[in-house]
Amino acid sequence: MNDNSTFRLSEVFGPTLQGEGRLIGTPCYFIRFGGCDYRCSWCDTWYAVDPETVRETAPLRTGQEIYDEMKTLGGVAEWVILTGGNPVLWPLGNFIDLLHGKGMKVSVETQGSVWKTWLLDCDHVCMSPKPPSSGMDVAHPQWEKHLRAMISKLQTNSVDHDLKIVVFDNDDIEFVRLLRTMFPDTRLDISVGSATPGRPYTLDHFEGVVDSREAYLTRAEALASRLLHDPDLGRCRVLPQYHVLLWGHKRGV
Ligand code: SF4
Repeated sequence: MNDNSTFRLSEVFGPTLQGEGRLIGTPCYFIRFGGCDYRCSWCDTWYAVDPETVRETAPLRTGQEIYDEMKTLGGVAEWVILTGGNPVLWPLGNFIDLLHGKGMKVSVETQGSVWKTWLLDCDHVCMSPKPPSSGMDVAHPQWEKHLRAMISKLQTNSVDHDLKIVVFDNDDIEFVRLLRTMFPDTRLDISVGSATPGRPYTLDHFEGVVDSREAYLTRAEALASRLLHDPDLGRCRVLPQYHVLLWGHKRGV
């Protein structure tokens, strides 16, 4: 690739396991790009969102430099997860070509707010529209229009894609219900949100619960039981955040 475009690289780590969504448990590398058009209340990667922190801690790197750094990590994972922030803010088409040229598969994680044609070149696109607990459904009222357009293009071009909703409270469950209605044929995973300081759970009787592994599993079990008896949501998959179970909120895994 002869491309000197540079991108804010917040971190590259792995090999590790994808902790959420369709690729859960799959060995992979994560490449986290700095910059995001959202400001979710419970964002757990603020260092890749806050513009000042991004400027100070995320150096500008070319695609080749990012690939070289990833290779120094060792391991044999086949998948690369492009995440953020919102990686779709960046022109990553040539970088994806480079990764494919090295025999790697590319998955992208985005909230679905911005379209780039290079999404059509990805092996998998995971869209994670943000529920009411994030505050972003109100802050970005156009989210529905942008998501519809993105899913329509991915479907038309047969790009593997799905939805993943992180659920924190009852309003978030209603948000999932809405998405299930809007996109009845799209695979939808519900991810049990993990509490972070300042963001306790409010799902029924779990209000204020501490963020321990056991408490997290208790919430996951309760959410699963509830959804299995919900006629609208029974076709969703309920998944834990596997990486949180294994490693908590530690960075770099
Ligand atoms: Fe954080 Fe993701 Fe929300 Fe951006 S979209 S603020 S990275 S949780």
